[in-house]
Amino acid sequence: MQLDVARLKRSPGASVRYELAVDLPPLAFSGEEIIFAGPLSADLLVTNTGKVLTVEGVADGKLELSCSRCLKHFIYDYKVPIDEKYSLPQEGETNEELQTFTGDYIDITSAVINSIFLALPMKAVCAEGCQGLCSVCGANLNEDSCGCAGEDIDLRLGVLKDLLKKDDK
Ligand SMILES: [Zn+2]
Ligand SMILES: [Zn+2]
Repeated sequence: MQLDVARLKRSPGASVRYELAVDLPPLAFSGEEIIFAGPLSADLLVTNTGKVLTVEGVADGKLELSCSRCLKHFIYDYKVPIDEKYSLPQEGETNEELQTFTGDYIDITSAVINSIFLALPMKAVCAEGCQGLCSVCGANLNEDSCGCAGEDIDLRLGVLKDLLKKDDK
């Protein structure tokens, strides 16, 4: 994801709007694979302040995540803010805190991906009311009512009592 700033970097005070759509490969995020379900779109305004290039705007698109309750894959819509600064190559002084770019392009890929990671829910769910999986038989309770919750409660309590007895010994 590169922005061509060849002209902008020589024009202090100027702004250029960039609209892009890019396909990204799957990402690894805390042990899970995150798949982009369609291109990422970004709408960005890049301004040359004389010292830095500011990149501001939003990126949005769809991800394929798996539900933390029922494990099913579902489509998650994201829309994240982008707010970055890149220092212009200066003669002499360098600003250690800012990313410097060389040449005529700014690569915003890592900034955009970081912003998406920050916005991801810790426990993604396919729907607020997702019933998850039955803890007894593993059935997806959104699709099946497996019957475990009804008559089998006494049976489960029995098993639990047996376990507690074992722990006492
Ligand atoms: Zn779910
Ligand atoms: Zn069940």
